[in-house]
Amino acid sequence: MDILVINAGSSSLKYQLVDKETLQVLAKGNCEKIGLDDSFHKFEIGELSETRVMPIPDHQSAVQAALDVMLDPEAGCLKNLSEIVAVGHRIVHGGEYFSESVIITDEVRRRIEECILLAPLHNPPALMALRACSILMPNATPVAVFDTAFHQTMPAKAFMYALPYSCYKEMKIRRYGFHGTSHHYVAERAALLLGRSLTDMKMVTCHLGNGCSLAAIDGGFSVDTTMGFTPLEGVMMGTRCGSIDPAIVSYLIENKDLTPDDVNNLMNRKSGLLGISGVSNDLRDVQEAAAAGNEQAALAEQMYAHSIKKYLGQYAFEMGGLDVVVMTAGVGENSARMRELIFHNLGTMGIIIDPARNALSGGERIISSDNSRVTVAVIPTNEELVIVKDAIRLIG
Ligand code: AMP
Repeated sequence: MDILVINAGSSSLKYQLVDKETLQVLAKGNCEKIGLDDSFHKFEIGELSETRVMPIPDHQSAVQAALDVMLDPEAGCLKNLSEIVAVGHRIVHGGEYFSESVIITDEVRRRIEECILLAPLHNPPALMALRACSILMPNATPVAVFDTAFHQTMPAKAFMYALPYSCYKEMKIRRYGFHGTSHHYVAERAALLLGRSLTDMKMVTCHLGNGCSLAAIDGGFSVDTTMGFTPLEGVMMGTRCGSIDPAIVSYLIENKDLTPDDVNNLMNRKSGLLGISGVSNDLRDVQEAAAAGNEQAALAEQMYAHSIKKYLGQYAFEMGGLDVVVMTAGVGENSARMRELIFHNLGTMGIIIDPARNALSGGERIISSDNSRVTVAVIPTNEELVIVKDAIRLIG
């Protein structure tokens, strides 16, 4: 019995097939450039790792391509589609409707459709993948795991914007927060690593990948997070600017002859590490350029660390203390230098990093020194595993 995990983007579809009993990954892959001329399917099954350039006109063809390789009589890992008992779908936006994962019924599907207004780029492809899976695997139970669900415990004082109240009532404008599956997972793993209960810890989890967000987790519940109404708010990211003075938007539209769409594009795709450094959205390239003397790259790196430090301090104050900081995702897990910059000079706040521990790589680990009042841990994230476990729990 296996669980299929689906993570659908507008032009990509990532998947993993996981054994329900052992949680072993049996196959994984990604269909990219769906609907374009040069679409391809990259996958790994056992020892086999292959990239097939092939027509993938839509999400149903992508699901079919994934199932075809899994069912391959020689290289595949499935004899029959009935071995897939559940399909766990990553759904970016569940609005205020969902505070936990659910089995997808017609009613749930309607709610996800309603949330298209809030996530026009993310929910439609997820719905396409859901439809495709229902057609191709009608007997597998569909499960939705929402990026926003974990943050539904935020109090109103943290999720409201100080706009007229009608903006919230009529248009649902509020902070939702994202990366919830990742924040929840690493918080639980950190508690296990430290041998402590989540319920008596004040924690900040830092998901620093291409997209970045921090969450304040008090007693196991998300009480604040940096991403907001959309994943644009908060800390500086690879190509996203994070929080800026909102008046800059109208200033650009009025004075630079840009349309709202242009400004959206500028803030989402041309800003952040890329916009400041002019080099890349990848921190590795930015750090290399900075080391070679590129001043803008050095500034980008400093700004990135500064914006994270700022929210760390904010959340410690909001929660009235801090016990643990968790670093995860591409940057959080791999960049010792960025971790060093973020935690530099925080000794008086009770955070002391052990340089030797910080320099080590791989696995779940503590990087703070023994005399640091706040424990800093690196925990590799695993959103797929959360989706699989939620699916197993829901199908019973
Ligand atoms: P993710 O979205 O979690 O896959 O993270 C991707 C990002 O992690 C890349 O764009 C890089 O900026 C960053 N990254 C990955 N490995 C390293 C590394 N060794 N040093 C610095 N940044 C890294």
